[in-house]
Amino acid sequence: PPRLRFAPSPTGFQHIGGYRTALFSWLFARHGGGQFVLRIEDTDQARTVEGSVEDIIKGLQWFGMDYDEGPVVGGPYGPYFQVQRKALYQHYANQLIEAGHAYKCYCTPERIDRVRQERAAKKLPPRYDRHCRNLSAEERAANDAAGLSYTVRLAMPEEGETIVPDQLHGNMSFKNADLDDIIILKTNGLAPYHLAHLIDDHLMEITHVLRGEDWISTSPYHVYLYKVLGWEMPLLYHVPNVLGNDKKKLSKRRNAPSWSDYRRDGYLPEAVFNFMALLGWAYDDKTEIFTKEELIKAFTLDRVSVSSGIYDPDKMLWMNGLYIRKLSLDELVERTLPYMERPEAEGGLPDSVQRPLDRAYTKQVLELEQERLKTLGEAAHAVAFFYLKDLEYDASMLIQKKMDAAGTRNALQHAHDLLASIEHWDHETLEPPMRELAQKLELKPGQFFGTVRVAVSASNATPPLFHMLAVLGREVSLKRLQEAIA
Ligand code: GLU
Repeated sequence: PPRLRFAPSPTGFQHIGGYRTALFSWLFARHGGGQFVLRIEDTDQARTVEGSVEDIIKGLQWFGMDYDEGPVVGGPYGPYFQVQRKALYQHYANQLIEAGHAYKCYCTPERIDRVRQERAAKKLPPRYDRHCRNLSAEERAANDAAGLSYTVRLAMPEEGETIVPDQLHGNMSFKNADLDDIIILKTNGLAPYHLAHLIDDHLMEITHVLRGEDWISTSPYHVYLYKVLGWEMPLLYHVPNVLGNDKKKLSKRRNAPSWSDYRRDGYLPEAVFNFMALLGWAYDDKTEIFTKEELIKAFTLDRVSVSSGIYDPDKMLWMNGLYIRKLSLDELVERTLPYMERPEAEGGLPDSVQRPLDRAYTKQVLELEQERLKTLGEAAHAVAFFYLKDLEYDASMLIQKKMDAAGTRNALQHAHDLLASIEHWDHETLEPPMRELAQKLELKPGQFFGTVRVAVSASNATPPLFHMLAVLGREVSLKRLQEAIA
C-alpha cells in the first residue's frame, strides 16, 4: 500500500495551495488503503514561526485529513520533527564524505560572498567555485585540527547529465555542468531540505512524493543523492502550482487564504475540501461536486494535471453556497449559530441582541435564508432584522418607484389595518388579502410589498415577504408597520 507524506516547514501558516498538495497525497493514500504521514521540516530554525505546527495540525483536522503518523500521534518511523533527526543526517553526510561523494567546505561566509560577487561580475551563474573540493588531505587535516567550522557539500559530477524521472512531466534532463556543489549539512550540523527530506522519505518508506513544481530545478540533486546512497527513489510527482486569478502563484505574502480564514468567514470545510481537489486534478471534464468518499474512490494520480490550478474565489463561494443548501436545516442551525452568536466586532449579530439565541426561532429564520446564503458568516448580517428590537433605516427607503411620501404612508396604513385584522398568522392566510389590497390601492404588488418589506426589515433584499412576516410574528410585524407610519 502507498505511503505518502505532507512535509510542511513551520514557517507560518499554510495557505490553500499547501493544503491542496497535502490533500492530493491524503486522497491517494486513502485511495490505496495506505498511510498518510505528517512530517515537520523544521531544520531551517531561523525561519521557524512559533505556533505554526499547531496551526498546520488544526488545519488538517478542520479539513478532515487525518494522518496516521506524525506529531502528537507518533508512529513507527519517528521522530517526525526533523530537528530531532539531526544525528541521522550527520550519519549519512559522513557516509557520503567517506565514499568521496561529499566533502567538508571550510570557506567562510565572506569568501563565499566574494566568489559570488566575482562570478556575478563575469556574468556567471551564482555557484560555489569548488575550492574545498580540491583540498589535499593535509590541508583538510590542518583545517580540522584548527577546529575550523565547515559545511558539507555534495560533490556533483561535472560532466554528463542527470535524468529526473517525474511521473507527471516525464523524464527531465539536466546538464551536470550547470549544477552546483550544494550544501547538504550546515555548520550547525543540521541538514537543509535537500538531504533531510530525502533521508526521511527513504527511512519512512515513502512510496510517492508529491510536491510543488518549484522543486523541479533542484530535483537533479535529489536524484544524484539517491544514486550515491544506493537507494531506490520513490515515485516523484511535481504537482502544479495553485495560481490566483491574476495567474501569479498564490503565496502567504500575497494574501492567499489559510484554513482559519475560511473558517472565520463561514466556509464549510467539506466545500473547501471539494474545491481544493479540483485545483490541478479533474475526474472528467464535467463532474465538480464530490463527497469525500467519492473523491477517495475517484482520485488517482494519473489525472493530476501538469498545468496550474487557478484559484477562483467566486467559484469557491458558489460551491460553498451549494454545500450550504445541501445541509439539513438542523445542521444548518447547528453550524450557523456560533457565527451569529459571536461578538458583533467579529461578524456576529449586533451586541444588543441577547445570546444565546432562541433555537426554534433561529431555525425558522434560517429556513428562509438557506437558499441565499453563500457563507455561514454572512448569515448574521442577512438576518439581523429578525432579532433587532428597533430597526434603523432612512425613511426614504420606504418610498418605492413611482410613489410619493403620502401614497407610501397611505399604503402602509392600509397594510397595517388589514394585517391587524388577521388572527391566523401564516403566509398562506396573509398573502391573498394583501394582493387584493394592492389592487384596490392601484399599486403594483412590487410597489406595495416593497414598502411593507422595508417597513418590517429595513431592507430591500429579503426572503419572500409573507414567509418573513410569518416568522417575524404578528406583534413585531404590526409594531414595525406602525413605526414606519409614525
Ligand atoms: N518542507 C518543504 C516545503 O514546505 C516540503 C517540500 C516537499 O514536500 O518535499 O516546501
